[in-house]
Amino acid sequence: MQEIKVHDKLFVPWLTEQTITDRVKDIAADINNAYAGKKPLFIGILNGAFMFASDLLKHITIEAEISFIKLASYKGMKSSGQVVTAIGLDVDITDRHVIIVEDIIDTGKTLHQFLPQLHNQRPASLKTAVLLHKPEATIHPVDIDYCCFSIPNKFVVGYGLDYNGLGRNLPAIYQLKD
Ligand code: 5GP
Ligand code: MG
Ligand code: MG
Repeated sequence: MQEIKVHDKLFVPWLTEQTITDRVKDIAADINNAYAGKKPLFIGILNGAFMFASDLLKHITIEAEISFIKLASYKGMKSSGQVVTAIGLDVDITDRHVIIVEDIIDTGKTLHQFLPQLHNQRPASLKTAVLLHKPEATIHPVDIDYCCFSIPNKFVVGYGLDYNGLGRNLPAIYQLKD
């Protein structure tokens, strides 16, 4: 893999497509075991989680549903701090086993604000499946139940994650070059 340019910035390869695929399959297997007979409802958070959700669900072999919501809090390389619901939830989660599918936990603000709203709707259970976690950046506590990769506190693009709108289509993950 080669370094790439997205807008004005250079990025270096960090996680290959194969590394991601292998790990996503492992997480899917864990979920298949834990939720056998429970018909979980996956809720993907757009835009960043679209590719992770798609790949994860390909390896979910138990009965399951998926829906999406759109939350936004990021402008460029910094979290704006305000979490806005751009597209809301269109399913009733009461008494459902819900698994949130998120691209990355950075400061933790997004899920820290959003999970209590879901709890209020009384799901049977509420868990999180997260592609990436930046432990050094997380200041708002979030329970992560299924985590694919813990990464350093550096900006990344690819596999659903963007830099000012670009880079989401990259099949691998790249880290901002120092
Ligand atoms: P939070 O700070 O609330 O945990 O993260 C909010 C959102 O910011 C994430 O869901 C993700 O969309 C975006 N984000 C956080 N860190 C990164 C990063 O390193 N790269 C990209 N492209 N987006 C990020
Ligand atoms: Mg996100
Ligand atoms: Mg973004």
